[in-house]
Amino acid sequence: MQFKTIIEPFRIKVVEPIKMTTREDRVRFLREAGLNVFLLKSEDVLIDLLTDSGTTAMSAEQWSAMMRGDESYAGAPSYYRFHESIYKLTGFKEIIPTHQGRAAERILFQSVCKPGQVVISNMFFDTTRANAETSGLVTVDIPCKEYYSPMVPAPFKGNIDLEKLEELLRLRAHLGEIGLVLMTITNNSGGGQPVSMGNLRAAGDLCRRYKVNYVIDACRFAENAKFIKLREQGYAGKSSRDIAKEIFSLCDAISVSAKKDGMGNIGGFLAMHNQEWAQACRNNLILTEGFVTYGGLAGRDLEAIAVGINEAVDDDYLTYRLQCVNYVGQGLLAQGWSIVNPPGGHAIYLDAKAMLPHISVDKYPAQVLTSALYEFAGIRGVEIGSVMLGREMSDGHEQPHSQELVRLAIPRRVYTQAHMDYLLEATAEFKKTLPQLRGVRFTYKPKVLRHFTARFEWC
Ligand SMILES: *Cc1c(COP(=O)(O)O)cnc(C)c1O
Repeated sequence: MQFKTIIEPFRIKVVEPIKMTTREDRVRFLREAGLNVFLLKSEDVLIDLLTDSGTTAMSAEQWSAMMRGDESYAGAPSYYRFHESIYKLTGFKEIIPTHQGRAAERILFQSVCKPGQVVISNMFFDTTRANAETSGLVTVDIPCKEYYSPMVPAPFKGNIDLEKLEELLRLRAHLGEIGLVLMTITNNSGGGQPVSMGNLRAAGDLCRRYKVNYVIDACRFAENAKFIKLREQGYAGKSSRDIAKEIFSLCDAISVSAKKDGMGNIGGFLAMHNQEWAQACRNNLILTEGFVTYGGLAGRDLEAIAVGINEAVDDDYLTYRLQCVNYVGQGLLAQGWSIVNPPGGHAIYLDAKAMLPHISVDKYPAQVLTSALYEFAGIRGVEIGSVMLGREMSDGHEQPHSQELVRLAIPRRVYTQAHMDYLLEATAEFKKTLPQLRGVRFTYKPKVLRHFTARFEWC
């Protein structure tokens, strides 16, 4: 007998109280924060969907392993457990810990590519793009056609455009102009959408044919593997762990933030076959991260990741994980919200342009929706629109971004279904108030990474 209700596959033994707030409290907190939810105190948030990065609730096994953490500077057993766990899952022998994913990607670009080269992706995540460009590389995004219709469902909207990839490789690879091809799974900037095994394999075949390095940004490898199991022909009978192994077998190296599917609160790593690359990466690592067996992490962090990475590919966990995001997504769709569809693996993206047609982009509809949702219900999402991605031109003119999205990222194993039911009850009521919302204008506009510290007022 198959029951419909998918339960959280865990019990809770440690709790973090949530401080209750009223609407009046939140109006004040938000005003004090300059209408920027990044500037709120997290204890003034009821349900915090700012990010799924580093916000995971760790398991009893992870906490137990942390007690075993060995803080020796070099050669600690914690590193060897970290190594064994990742080696068994990924098949890569050369494994280099880093303090976060962004350190891993910087070290990889600087060690494997030459300044002036082009790096190609289904879509670079923002820190990845910034690290590539700061390393003197030119980034090119070639997402598949389905990516350009965010509201139209398709199973693998994270895919790379294989025709464009082949053309780029054909024209430029023989000139030594391509540094590497990097597939991001799931495609975070593109809505947490998965990449199919067929697409991952075909891109790898092209890279081999044109002798170009093939790397996977595997931050959400487990969620991507589960999507393949659920949606791609031939994979229903395989475990997500075996599917993840198959993914890793296709590429030369992976760059990982352990704050996502590593189930850690901090950490990252590089893993690869090529010993020369590994040597170059380790030399770079020592400059900024630390010795090769800790890479900027405490021994206890290595232990937490060594356990967490295996928990992430547990199929019962992944069933719950994807269903949790899907449950919220389907609920919002039923209420008439416009969202990136289908829901991705870690987050829901609300389309603020569609929901607030009366607010023009120069009044930042996604910032409005983010702020107002916090005021209304205490739910904190994040603006992914013209505040984060727009630019101020040299003449002081604002260049808006093409999309105005609000991301609601679901932390792993943190919230229960009752929290998600509260969210859906709140969004149904909140939706009725949308026509009354006004735009916002900057009162403080920093030059770079402005979404973190900008301040606003209502128009
Ligand atoms: C989070 C993330 C990174 C960067 O990792 P950090 O640990 O935040 O530095 C890189 N790529 C993708 C796809 C990510 O989601």
